Amino acid sequence: MTPVTVVTGGSRGIGAATVRQLAATGHDIALCYRRDTAAAESVLRDVQAAGRRGIAVQADTTDPEQVVRLFDAAQELGEITGLVNNAGVTSPIGPFVDLTVTDLRHVVDVNLIGYVLCAQQAARRMSTGAAIVNVSSAAATLGSPGEYIHYAAVKAATDTLTTGLAKELGPRGIRVNAVSPGTIWTDIHTISGLPDRPALIADRVPLGRAGYPDEIAAAIVWLLSPQASYTSGAVLRVAGGQ
Ligand code: NAP
Repeated sequence: MTPVTVVTGGSRGIGAATVRQLAATGHDIALCYRRDTAAAESVLRDVQAAGRRGIAVQADTTDPEQVVRLFDAAQELGEITGLVNNAGVTSPIGPFVDLTVTDLRHVVDVNLIGYVLCAQQAARRMSTGAAIVNVSSAAATLGSPGEYIHYAAVKAATDTLTTGLAKELGPRGIRVNAVSPGTIWTDIHTISGLPDRPALIADRVPLGRAGYPDEIAAAIVWLLSPQASYTSGAVLRVAGGQ
């Protein structure tokens, strides 16, 4: 049976790298994105070039009806065997006292409510052998002082979501894990107002540099693969030693 994997936020960054690696290892893909249709279509062409089937669905993961539409579309490819909960946002970098309620709610909405809604649809539709990977962040344990503590706190919630789901879905043969990236070269840092943040944090990282999307994708692909058949409830840190 061909694996069918849903990747949220698959149009750019870590999500796009994951889609490309999954397609190269034989997955059919349903990816979602929010705004950038051209980017999503470009990733989709790479899926097709790898000989796999793929669909790109414009769906906001914070909206329950759009999430149902995403999973309905994915099921047209076959039984859903994987979910990569990846669509995420940060806020402008700054001191905690300056955080606005709007930015706080947006981070909670996308990074927590969106993950829960997608995991719920996946859990309802998946059967034995399926797997979920939640993309968390090393921020969950670092706390991100002076940058975005609220984002770090929500990523810690992602780790707890992973622990709970692994225990609840394990008896059904569904594995649930998280990958915790350190700072990675993607456009997410533009939203935070520091596009070159990956270069700026290099001296805080034991390996002396930020990471690349493919280095995170490789961990996600492994966690979805049969090689990880006894791995569930793990939070795999991929952060250059940080
Ligand atoms: P990115 O380059 O900014 O890409 C974000 C992706 O998510 C895009 O495809 C975007 O689509 C999509 N997206 C955002 N909000 C969405 C929503 N509400 N509904 C559907 N799609 C949505 O981000 P990234 O750096 O690859 O981050 C991916 C994940 O890794 C996030 O969960 C992030 O928190 C985590 N992470 C990143 C880093 C890092 O340093 N980059 C470090 C640790 C953890 P559009 O382009 O269409 O908006």
